[in-house]
Amino acid sequence: MSEPDQTPPLLDVQQLGKLYRVGGWLRPKHLRALHDASFTLGHGEILALVGESGSGKSTIARLCVRLEAPTSGRILLDGRDVLHEERGHATLAYRRRVQMIFQDPFGSLNPARTIGQHLERPLLLHDKAKTRADLSARVHALLDTVGLVPAPEVAAKYPQELSGGQRQRVAIARALAVEPDLILADEPVSMLDVSIRADVLNLMLDLKEKRGISFLYITHDLASARYVADRMMVMYAGHIVEAGPSDALLEKPLHPYTNLLLSAVPELEGSFARGLPARSGAPALVDPPPGCPFAARCPDVTDICRRETPRPVSLDEGRVVRCHLYPEPSRTRSE
Ligand code: ATP
Ligand code: MG
Repeated sequence: MSEPDQTPPLLDVQQLGKLYRVGGWLRPKHLRALHDASFTLGHGEILALVGESGSGKSTIARLCVRLEAPTSGRILLDGRDVLHEERGHATLAYRRRVQMIFQDPFGSLNPARTIGQHLERPLLLHDKAKTRADLSARVHALLDTVGLVPAPEVAAKYPQELSGGQRQRVAIARALAVEPDLILADEPVSMLDVSIRADVLNLMLDLKEKRGISFLYITHDLASARYVADRMMVMYAGHIVEAGPSDALLEKPLHPYTNLLLSAVPELEGSFARGLPARSGAPALVDPPPGCPFAARCPDVTDICRRETPRPVSLDEGRVVRCHLYPEPSRTRSE
């Protein structure tokens, strides 16, 4: 007897918001880094998050890995509300399932520790090895997985003896040590040489295909997002303005901001070197004016855009857009 699939998505983010207090004690103000962000991420899926600097990409990652608490909203992992679980043991269990890789492979490794020691730590913390021999076998297996061979030689090295690309592989191996279901990769290739970016992206694809690991891949670079990601989300000024399958979104963008991004990047089959265009005049995040955050720059702006913040509208084929050009049907689930 077969029943309809009721499995919840791996990660289900619902109306997440983040305000930061800025401006000192005398005149405290709030910077709205994230506004009402909702999305899901499936098992074995790569979801890219693209947007210009300051749009809130890392904020989403920090909230999802629980380095910071959101001001509002919910985060569900396999359908369980993780923000209301007890801290301590539950946090350790969450960290085992959700790992993060940062942009800077130089800063994230300790120059006084060998590569082997970097990998032993999470294995011991999460009780993944019983004996000394077991521990070193696991370290070597991790290094093999990320293509750092011969593993015993690499394990004995210090971070400064490795290239940037090799260090980023160590960071990935460290994340893999706890056998996570989800890795939040915050610009993992942007500091690497263009020639080795594809290697690291291919490793992500391999881990997704062979181990079913999901990734949230944060980047400025649309070409690399299209290369690895099943789906993409576009952020502007703390808002997810558009989301959908990568090819469809790039071939037929819906939101005027996505259109602007694409017009500035004429050919996407590039070298993973292209970034988003520089812009003049940052959108206000402190006390933002009412309405759509893109209204001041939008070629299609109308009166309602300056009055009301558009809500997410779900369209066919898994596409979601937040723009008054796409009116809400009578009732739309926030996506
Ligand atoms: P980049 O591409 O430059 O990494 P980003 O999209 O990752 O940018 P975030 O780091 O998420 O951007 O920051 C979003 C906004 O929140 C920015 O305006 C940033 O200055 C602000 N912000 C982030 N962290 C804090 C903090 N701890 N206190 C105050 N403001 C913050
Ligand atoms: Mg960032």
